[in-house]
Amino acid sequence: MSSKSDIPLLSEKHSGIPLNLLEKAQRAKALIYETRTKETKTRERLPAIPQGIDKSTFIKALDELGDQLGTDNVEVNEKPLVDGWYMEHPNTHDMMPILDDEELVASAVVYPSSTEEVQRIVLWANKYSIPIFPISMGRNLGYGGAAPRVRGSVVIDLGKRMNKILDINPNDYTCLVEPGVSFYALYEAIQAKGYDHMWIDTPDLGGGSVIGNTLDRGVGYTPYGDHWACHSGLEVVLPTGEVIRTGMGALPGNNTWQTFPYGFGPYSDGIFSQSNFGIVTKMGMTLMPNPGGYESFMYAFQKEGDLEALIEIIRPLRIGNILENVAQVRHAIQTLAVKGLPRTKYFSGDGPIPEEIVREQLRKMPIGDHTWLYYGMSYGPPHIRKYKLDIIDQEFKKIPGARKIDPSTLPEDEYFWSRDRIAAGVPDLVELLWVNWVPNGAHVAFSPVSPIRGADAMKLFNLGKRRHDEFGIDFLPAFCVGLREMHLIVEIVYDKNDPVKRKAANDCLREMIDDAAKEGYGEYRTHLVLMDQVAGTYSWNDGALMKFNERLKDALDPNGILAPGKSGIWPARYRGRGWEMGKSSGGRSEGNGVTPSKNTKL
Ligand code: ADP
Repeated sequence: MSSKSDIPLLSEKHSGIPLNLLEKAQRAKALIYETRTKETKTRERLPAIPQGIDKSTFIKALDELGDQLGTDNVEVNEKPLVDGWYMEHPNTHDMMPILDDEELVASAVVYPSSTEEVQRIVLWANKYSIPIFPISMGRNLGYGGAAPRVRGSVVIDLGKRMNKILDINPNDYTCLVEPGVSFYALYEAIQAKGYDHMWIDTPDLGGGSVIGNTLDRGVGYTPYGDHWACHSGLEVVLPTGEVIRTGMGALPGNNTWQTFPYGFGPYSDGIFSQSNFGIVTKMGMTLMPNPGGYESFMYAFQKEGDLEALIEIIRPLRIGNILENVAQVRHAIQTLAVKGLPRTKYFSGDGPIPEEIVREQLRKMPIGDHTWLYYGMSYGPPHIRKYKLDIIDQEFKKIPGARKIDPSTLPEDEYFWSRDRIAAGVPDLVELLWVNWVPNGAHVAFSPVSPIRGADAMKLFNLGKRRHDEFGIDFLPAFCVGLREMHLIVEIVYDKNDPVKRKAANDCLREMIDDAAKEGYGEYRTHLVLMDQVAGTYSWNDGALMKFNERLKDALDPNGILAPGKSGIWPARYRGRGWEMGKSSGGRSEGNGVTPSKNTKL
């Protein structure tokens, strides 16, 4: 291997790739650039200064911050917007824009090295009423990446200099991390220490940070898949600059911060997740005991309508913990798309790829023809696994035509093996391959939650299919089954260089959000551009929840500086000025100014 990799390694950079995944990363990168035609343009809307401050004051303010943090740690974002790719992602904008590139961009990026420096940045933002937007890794792809919601916000890239694993406790099975610790980094550190008795839980891709993913309520695929439920203890810089520690962390001299999440009194952690109420600088996470063995399994189901019976079978097995992990039920088109090749390899027409073409391709693969694949894992020593796997087999085979696929028949590069690694807590890089389905591939997710019921699965499936057909978009659904609910994750993959395709994706998403809400379904997470609309669907009792959130926002962030608009929560200065994005806002992300800051003294 050459001494310097063309892709940053984890040993060189907090956001880098572990050496053992380098080859995969190189292949993934090559596939992406093979279909990329988008060129990096010169900037047309510079400078990207936030509304409410004039240019000279803004520049003076940045100079002042540079004096405090060091000039190298304050970067003005006036260079061309380079999208890069997953492993070399930007921290200035969304590398998968669904609006014009210039809409959701930072004016500058700053790099604190400590909680104290985060406090200073927050105080500075209050002094000048400048919106700031924290990211940990900025790889929240499909939901906005590193982009701020308000154009011209100053992005606080926490990960670059705050990326230490502060503790790994092999007795309590816990760890304490800073924002720049990726799933790759945590996994490698545990391996390096030889702690074979502990597993981490990882999302589909391991390059995100443990903190960012958890705060956005991301999931993984071991029995510890609900990251938010598995965290214990936060350190948070409030929008007014004070620092708090939640749970047991508030008790000086405690040794239970990472083992008991609640402490005493109101459980405050919840308000720092999917919100704009604080900047998390440390977080505790529980680790899973090595279950003493594991075995992945996969079943294929032939007909689209089999979904209904399958979900009914899954529910009691999942609630009863016979199905132990957040399992995935994926559609046939994804089996094809995750090969990483453009859809034009199979079909050159417009509109959704005909089903028969997908099936024809599947018949040529070792997995064979199917509509749905169930990917699961059984944990524990062989005799325990056998008990569970026998029940699963008996139940799944009640569906006519159901087939268990023997993993030994699958080649090494089959996607099944990536799911196998992930369900065993080993971070991977394969999932992003389906982004190459179209040139300049980008994706935004539609992620409604429903109970684990066959009728709901079919209703959501049909709702999504209908809208995708209407907008001429390939429909890529996957059901991720939690303990009492499931998320349908639909990834719309579109050519980010084509405004018509971007608009179709955006319009389709907006219709699906409304359709779903009419049927009583809401999204568990969403892209920055869709946050106002999704928040608006949670409107029970005349929007009582949003009124409560706004009251919290005004109390905690009187100058409205922290991530305005995130999760649809706007500070008082922005309200009533058309900042919300919805069906009628088109491609515009900005509102009509802000009221002059009251500049509440802190
Ligand atoms: P990832 O680490 O998965 O790449 P991001 O850094 O993109 O995640 O962040 C995901 C979301 O969580 C973003 O909306 C971001 O504003 C928020 N977020 C990330 N880190 C923090 C943090 N340390 N404090 C508060 N919010 C955060």
